[in-house]
Amino acid sequence: MSGKRAVLLDRDGTILDQDGYLGDPAGVRLLPGAAAALKALAAAGWERIVVSNQSGVARGLFTVEQYARVEEAVRAALRGEGADLEAVYVCHHLPGAPDLRWSVACDCRKPRPGLLLRAAAERGIDLARSVLVGDAARDIEAGRAAGAAASVLVRTGKGRATERLLAGDAAPDAVLDSLADLPAWLAVRFRPATG
Ligand SMILES: [Mg+2]
Repeated sequence: MSGKRAVLLDRDGTILDQDGYLGDPAGVRLLPGAAAALKALAAAGWERIVVSNQSGVARGLFTVEQYARVEEAVRAALRGEGADLEAVYVCHHLPGAPDLRWSVACDCRKPRPGLLLRAAAERGIDLARSVLVGDAARDIEAGRAAGAAASVLVRTGKGRATERLLAGDAAPDAVLDSLADLPAWLAVRFRPATG
C-alpha cells in the first residue's frame, strides 16, 4: 500500500512575492498564478504542503506569534482565490543565531530534509511519489535528501539566480517559469499508467 502523493512547496519566492523576512501580515503578496496552481494541484489529487525556513524568529526579526499571523494571512489570501494548503511545516532555527532558544543545529532547516520527513510521517505521504518545488538551492537539496520523486526549481524569487548556480548532479529535475506551470508539468511527468 502506498501513501499519498504531495507537492511540497517552499513559501517565499515560490508562492509569495517575497524574498526577505516577512513578519507583517500586510506584506503578504501571492505570486501571479500561484493560487490557481494550488487549485489545479488539488483537483489533480496532489496534497499541498508548505515546507518553509523562517529563521526571522531566530534572528530576532519577528516572533513566533507574528509568524503565525503571517501564515494565517497567506492561508486567507489563498482561500480568497479558492485555493488552500493541507499543512504548513516551518523551521524557525538558525545555528549561531542571537536568540539562543533558536540557535539549534536542527534537522529541519532546509537543505536538511527534516520538514519533508516529518510531513511524510505525520500525513501519510509517499515521498517517492511526491515533488518538491522551490526557488533556492537549499530547496532542491532538501527534496533530494528526502527522496522526493522530483525537485523542481521555479524562476520566481531567487530562482533565476539559482538556475545559474545549479549544474550537474545539483541541477533540478525541471526548471519552470513559475508555480503556475507546475500542474501542466506534473500532468505529463506523472501521467497515470494506462493499461
Ligand atoms: Mg524561497
